[in-house]
Amino acid sequence: MLQVMDIRVLFVAADANDINLLDQKLANSTRQAKFHLTTVGLLKDALQQLTENTFDVVLLSLQLPDGRGLGSLNKIQGVSPRVPIVVLGGINDEELALYAVQAGAQDYLVKNQLERNLLIRSLLYAIERKRTEERLSHLAQYDVVTGLPNRVLFRDRLTRALAHAQRKKQMVALMFLDLDHFKSVNDSLGHDVGDQLLKAVAERLKSCLREGDTIARLGGDEFTIILEEISESENIANVAQKIIDMMSRSFLVGGQEIFITTSIGIATYPDCGTDQNTLIKNADAALYDAKAHGRSVYRFYHQKMNIIATERLELLTSLRHAVDRDEFILRYQPQVNSYSGQLVGVEALLRWNHPEKGLIYPSQFVHLLEDTGLIIPVGEWALREACKQCKAWQNTGLPAIPVSVNISARQFKQKNLVSMVSQILLDTKLDPRYLQLELTESVLVDNIGVTVATLRALHTIGTKLSIDDFGTGYSSLSYLKQFPLHALKIDRSFLQDINKRSEDAAIAIAIITLGHSLRLDVVAEGVETNEQKEFLKKQNCNIMQGHLFGYPMHAVQIAEWLGDEKRQPPISNVGSINSNLFR
Ligand code: C2E
Ligand code: MG
Ligand code: MG
Repeated sequence: MLQVMDIRVLFVAADANDINLLDQKLANSTRQAKFHLTTVGLLKDALQQLTENTFDVVLLSLQLPDGRGLGSLNKIQGVSPRVPIVVLGGINDEELALYAVQAGAQDYLVKNQLERNLLIRSLLYAIERKRTEERLSHLAQYDVVTGLPNRVLFRDRLTRALAHAQRKKQMVALMFLDLDHFKSVNDSLGHDVGDQLLKAVAERLKSCLREGDTIARLGGDEFTIILEEISESENIANVAQKIIDMMSRSFLVGGQEIFITTSIGIATYPDCGTDQNTLIKNADAALYDAKAHGRSVYRFYHQKMNIIATERLELLTSLRHAVDRDEFILRYQPQVNSYSGQLVGVEALLRWNHPEKGLIYPSQFVHLLEDTGLIIPVGEWALREACKQCKAWQNTGLPAIPVSVNISARQFKQKNLVSMVSQILLDTKLDPRYLQLELTESVLVDNIGVTVATLRALHTIGTKLSIDDFGTGYSSLSYLKQFPLHALKIDRSFLQDINKRSEDAAIAIAIITLGHSLRLDVVAEGVETNEQKEFLKKQNCNIMQGHLFGYPMHAVQIAEWLGDEKRQPPISNVGSINSNLFR
């Protein structure tokens, strides 16, 4: 059965005949609607009614003692922008009807042609049309997933906020936020979970802010916040820290506990720019800087960032040429047996031999290679070069040692990774057991199903696999057990203050114990002092790498080391290379 709608009509008319006429026409309810009429004779009373009560539709006569023509329409819209309005005109005036509709009225009716059916239909349509308009305008201005303002409305709000701040001589803060590792969630748990997470993030952001502040979603995992009426940068910093803290608490989405972190870039008006575009550009530069300083941090924009951004662009341009001009080289860092000091392996490390700037280290360009996808050809080159070099050492009769090559996230996701590795081994004639691939934890937990399959395939062709920078990512024990691993590399950060900070020592010990319990080699990275070495030896960490033993060096120097019998005792003295050091 059709439900009868209760429709509250505000009738604004001064003429007693009109009022009577309408009263009669709307007196009895129809099958669809029952009308409740409130009549006022003055515009000012209409405006008061609209502020105090809710109406579904306004029927507005254009001849009122205190209001004329479309001016009355505008005033009503000003007080009640969401109420649909049907205008009632005294004459059959098409032009006025058009103006009324252009000015935002939903319909125009002519008094002396008013039939009951026509009137009812017009009122019902007006309500429906206004709803549709609102839905469309909502869609155009709000993000469907989170219900937050979208890019369009964000721009609009920023314009207003800046104009307001200029008048009142106040500060505005623009924050750009980006969720770290959101892509991993989407890839591994699916887009539904990703969407639910975005919704939950939006809710949490709202809870950190005041009523009047704007939070918008710009797309993907990018959010922006406009903070108005702030007096000090310190307050902005407090809000940023509060957001970071709130976000670092786990989210429960689709029965899954998810951990994400947030990086925030901040630009303030008027210090970091007085127009929209500059502020947006600078907040973005600050966000980039925040991400470069690790996760879960906020950064305020400062002038230097523009210089950094320009340099980055220059570097990016010359990086593209570097690929064609063969400007990359490899250096090899020794890995030694903790007890004998024997060279038991090397890690191949990429360097960029820039024609003007000289040798550039990976921290300055590997992320750019990743962002641009250039890591695919460069990574393949590095792998081939390292395998070729490893085989060349063996060919000259030197003791065979394995070479480790770093594989980045983007490379690991490459569809043809396994066949590419096999082809390189085949081409260079390197026995697969002398190739060890280093992957970071965050790469491995991205999409567990695919990861396990890829790792197994690499394991099947005979290469060794290790986890680099262990302890800085998200590995859980259950994942580790599924991976056919060979070694864990303890991140350098845990070794730096190993003798001063008991927490770092505890983590290092835990990683060594964990590695051994899983029957893996444990490689300590970044060993610089004898104290560190002694500590690690005591904990049975069997392989070490670091400046104490050798910097990344030229292939010729490695050959010399391998060939130096005093420095490199015969392999039989320390057991075979295929002992537990390099299974
Ligand atoms: P990583 O794989 O963790 O490499 C170890 C880094 O620690 C190297 O930095 C090495 O030079 C440095 N290191 C070793 N011992 C010490 C020490 O005692 N003290 C200090 N302070 N540092 C030490 P590098 O060569 O700058 O490489 C940085 C990162 O760049 C690497 O970290 C790796 O993630 C990435 N990378 C290097 N080469 C490649 C490559 O060919 N492909 C890919 N995808 N990434 C690479
Ligand atoms: Mg490495
Ligand atoms: Mg490392």
